[in-house]
Amino acid sequence: MQKRDVSRREFLKVGAAVAAVGALAPRVLAAETPAAKTALEFRTLGRTGLKVTTVSLGCMVAPEPVIAKAYDLGINWFDTANSYKGGRNEEEVGRVLAGDKRKKACICTKVRHTVNRQPATADQMMAGLEGGLKRLNTDYVDLVLTHATSSREQVMNDAALDFFRKAKESGKARFVGTSTHQNMTQVILAAVESGAYDVVMTTYNYTIAADLRAAAAKAKEAGLGIIAMKTQAPVVELMKKHDAAKAANPDAPAPRLPFPHEGYALQEAALKWALDDPAIACAVPGMRDFGQLDQNFAVMGKRLGYLDRRLLERYAAATARAYCSGCGRCAGTCPDGVSIPDVRRSAMYLDAYGETKIARDTYRAASVGAAPCARCEHCVAQCVNDVALRPILTDAHSRLA
Ligand code: SF4
Ligand code: SF4
Repeated sequence: MQKRDVSRREFLKVGAAVAAVGALAPRVLAAETPAAKTALEFRTLGRTGLKVTTVSLGCMVAPEPVIAKAYDLGINWFDTANSYKGGRNEEEVGRVLAGDKRKKACICTKVRHTVNRQPATADQMMAGLEGGLKRLNTDYVDLVLTHATSSREQVMNDAALDFFRKAKESGKARFVGTSTHQNMTQVILAAVESGAYDVVMTTYNYTIAADLRAAAAKAKEAGLGIIAMKTQAPVVELMKKHDAAKAANPDAPAPRLPFPHEGYALQEAALKWALDDPAIACAVPGMRDFGQLDQNFAVMGKRLGYLDRRLLERYAAATARAYCSGCGRCAGTCPDGVSIPDVRRSAMYLDAYGETKIARDTYRAASVGAAPCARCEHCVAQCVNDVALRPILTDAHSRLA
């Protein structure tokens, strides 16, 4: 019970949910999805006016041949960050999108807005942008984001707003914004209020609460471009744990997890869920190989049916304890101020993505890590999903500190 936040019993419940909905479900997706060539689908990224492919590329884990193939397929939005692979990911993107390709592709990078857990100055953020441009081998990016903001104060921070002004005036960034994995609703509403943001990139998947959907709709109405990320994160988390449960007990009947519709994977359905929302301009799923690229690419232009949505809702309910959505509702419940969503996201990078360096970097960047949990006899912090937090947090600390 300590380390396994989703037990085999819970998986079996998921399997039962799948079976129950699957029994009801006609081939809603299959009927509308021939394996034929996918037509590119574009949407406007808010006030930037940029027409972006709805399925775009999160480059963080993509090797260069995958980035190159995405470009060849017509994907035109490439997302990276100063911190991905310690800057090497920007170099990879820069190598692939060199020369004429740069003119047709849009690049987004992200800079840290804290240094040693203190707010960065505008000059430090400019230095981050300039370092990124050098690695990307380009004079400008189409979008620069402050990376992983989680509060209204960070969005309204004067240094960030000063950085945005300098980045635009110097021509080093055409548009500006922020990314958020935690407390996303508050961040998006603050970005709307500020008026200084062109784009917000946010965690957005079938597990999110209604208030985040409402905030995204409001932001779109206000002219912000909304980019979805972590669209398939709950699925990755679930499948990893599912595989581990199967390996631990290979003789038991395997719970059913794959999406039951013919020819469709749960990953595709999850991506479709995000793109079905008109507030979302595009999504940037990470793609490790050609198989994932082809699978995600084929989602463009497709829509979910009613029963598919019901199935995803059941998955969300069945796995709510395993996946931290970053909703931020646990804020203020730990007397030691442990940054619970940051710690849980770090563990997800390790367990679900297999990205040790990113997991460690994310853990170390958390405002307060989980060290205090070891001294705590009784955890009073509260997750909205009633998760026993202490075992998860102490385990993450032991592997990532
Ligand atoms: S165990 Fe719970 S209450 Fe104690 S420090 Fe950790 S999160 Fe906070
Ligand atoms: S730990 Fe629970 S309450 Fe906190 S952000 Fe994650 S899902 Fe929300």
